[in-house]
Amino acid sequence: MSQRIKVAVAGASGRMGREVVRMVLEDPELELAAAVARSCGPVDAGSLVGKPETGVIVASDLEQALSSSQADVLVDFTTPQAAYPNAEISIRYGVRPVMGTTGFTPEQFSLLDKLCKEKGIGGLIAPNFSIGAILMMKFAATAAKYLPHVEIIEYHGDQKLDAPSGTSIKTAELISESRRELRQGNPNEEEVIEGARGGYYNGFRIHSVRLPGVFAQQEVVFGGHGQTLKIRHDSYERAGYMPGVNTAVKKVMSTTGMVYGFEHFLD
Ligand code: NAP
Repeated sequence: MSQRIKVAVAGASGRMGREVVRMVLEDPELELAAAVARSCGPVDAGSLVGKPETGVIVASDLEQALSSSQADVLVDFTTPQAAYPNAEISIRYGVRPVMGTTGFTPEQFSLLDKLCKEKGIGGLIAPNFSIGAILMMKFAATAAKYLPHVEIIEYHGDQKLDAPSGTSIKTAELISESRRELRQGNPNEEEVIEGARGGYYNGFRIHSVRLPGVFAQQEVVFGGHGQTLKIRHDSYERAGYMPGVNTAVKKVMSTTGMVYGFEHFLD
C-alpha cells in the first residue's frame, strides 16, 4: 500500500471537526497525525468520536501540534477569526491547509496563495464541501446568463457567526461572472426598516435567515417576464460534507498554490 496521508484536524472538538476525525480514522488511506482543540483537554482523539484510543492526544495549540507531528494536510473547521492564522501557521510548517472555515478576504487569499507557492504546496479554501451545493452554484451561474434578475436567500442555524454565508458569497461571485452588469430593482426604492432588502452584492441582494432548527439551505431565485425559477439546495447533516473533505485531502497532495472553491477539485 502507498504511504498514508497524515492529517491534522483543527477544531477537532467541534461538530464538523469530530466528523473529520471520524472520517480520517475510517479511511485506511489516511492517518490521524494531530488533533487540535482548546476546550476538551489532553484527551485521546478517539474519545471525541466514541472510537478506541488512537494514540493521538488532542493539543491545545496548532503550532505545537504541527511541530511535533509529520502532518501532510491540515483540515480546519474552526471560526472565521482563527482560520487565517491557522492557514498561515499550517503553510509555514509545510502542511497543506484544507480550510472549511470561511471568512477570508481577497487580500488574505492572495497572501496564502503566495505563501503556498513559495513552499511549493497546495491549499484549498472551500465554502462548501457538498456536491449538491456545488451543483446549485453551477446551475445558478448558468441560469444567470438567461435570467439576470436574481436574489439569494440562505438559511442557517441561529448560532452561525458570519453572514452572509461563505456559500452565498461564492454563489454571488459566480453569478456576477456569468451575467451582464445589472443593478436590479427600483432606483427610488426606500427601506422602511433598515436591512429589509438584504445585503447588496454587485447589483443584487443576499438575505440571511438565522433560526434554530435549521441546518444549511440556500435558494437562488431568478425572476423574468411572467416567470420565476428557484434553485434550492438543502443540507441535512454534517456527514454529508465528508466525501468532499476526503476528496480534498487527497487531491491537495498534488496541487500547488491556494485554490478557492471545492468545484476546482472535482474532475
Ligand atoms: P463548532 O461546533 O462551534 O466548532 C468550532 C470549533 O472551533 C471547536 O472545535 C472550537 O474548539 C474551535 N474554535 C473556536 N474558536 C477557536 C479559536 N479562536 N481558535 C481555534 N479554534 C477555535 O462549529 P462547526 O459547526 O463545527 O463549524 C465550524 C466552521 O465550519 C464554521 O465556520 C462553519 O461555518 C464551517 N462550516 C463549513 C462547511 C463547509 O462545507 N465548508 C460546512 C459546515 C460548517 P475549541 O473552542 O475547543 O478550540
